[in-house]
Amino acid sequence: MENVVVIGSGCAGWTAALYTARANLKPLVITGQQPGGLLTTTTIVENYPGFPEGVDGYELMTRMQKQAERFGARTTFGTVEAADLSRRPFTLTVDGEPLQTRTLIIATGASHRHLGLDSEQKLENKGVTYCATCDGALPMFRNQPLVVVGGGDSACEEATYLTRFGSVVYLIHRRDTLRASKIMADRALSNPKIKPRWDSVVTDVLDVKQDKVTGVQLKNVKTGEQSSLDAAGVFVAIGHVPNTQIFKGQLAMDDNGYLVPAQGASTNVPGVFVAGDCADHVYRQAVTAAGMGCAAAIEAERFLATQNQ
Ligand code: NAP
Repeated sequence: MENVVVIGSGCAGWTAALYTARANLKPLVITGQQPGGLLTTTTIVENYPGFPEGVDGYELMTRMQKQAERFGARTTFGTVEAADLSRRPFTLTVDGEPLQTRTLIIATGASHRHLGLDSEQKLENKGVTYCATCDGALPMFRNQPLVVVGGGDSACEEATYLTRFGSVVYLIHRRDTLRASKIMADRALSNPKIKPRWDSVVTDVLDVKQDKVTGVQLKNVKTGEQSSLDAAGVFVAIGHVPNTQIFKGQLAMDDNGYLVPAQGASTNVPGVFVAGDCADHVYRQAVTAAGMGCAAAIEAERFLATQNQ
């Protein structure tokens, strides 16, 4: 029987683990398929306080893990496949095995959103990718034209990063203004290797017959005009979907699947707390996720204290 199980090992999860570990609760962190979370796929994080020169995303997460473990947090690599929150202790199914816990902190984060094209799915890892940091340096992309889809901070960051490898980077955005923060947008748009294609959507990734990416088919959403671009890689950076499916019907969530806290980090189920991107579609920053992880931990600690009275 666990006191605290933290699902997820991003900023929110490790911070929740750090605080509950320092409260002597010996939390168990279940990492999920991507230990360290989405931040491990980014390059330099420039807006996490305390790192004036920036910090590598992977390094930041490794440091958070070490810090939590130093105070007694335990880590297990695994995926939570099911959760029964109908009675306490809660029962989780982790890679087929049952696990019981008095409190639960959900910090499951979010996954990359897909375009939803058949060709995108068929060519995934054959030129279609969701992570420039992970895949950008592959030989198949070197000195080749590349496509980034999206208009947010991720798209701008990925496009800028990819200019190191590609001959040209086309930034395909469905509107004529970027959603990205000004500093990221300016950095991308002032880079001579980045060529924006405004008001455009990808209607097909080419070429499924050749079993590799050779380009994209585009449609201008204002004029309806169709066009195509040659490209060796398509980097999709169009946002995220929260990893909350296993809690459907048990915890309050909005239409997009984001968990809706009842108050602070508490949920509609006493003893279950939420933190980070799985419950935040507004800020979605490393530092806000860490802050929510801290809040969830303090609430879990208080909840356990009231149960033990
Ligand atoms: P985002 O801000 O939600 O932007 C998603 C982009 O994809 C938007 O431009 C959106 O278009 C477009 N989009 C969504 N669905 C689409 C579809 N089906 N087809 C075509 N385009 C589509 O996501 P994000 O860029 O991943 O950023 C997520 C959060 O992380 C943000 O809060 C961001 O500030 C943060 N972040 C920060 C940094 C940093 O500061 N270093 C780096 C990366 C991310 P519309 O604009 O038309 O909606």
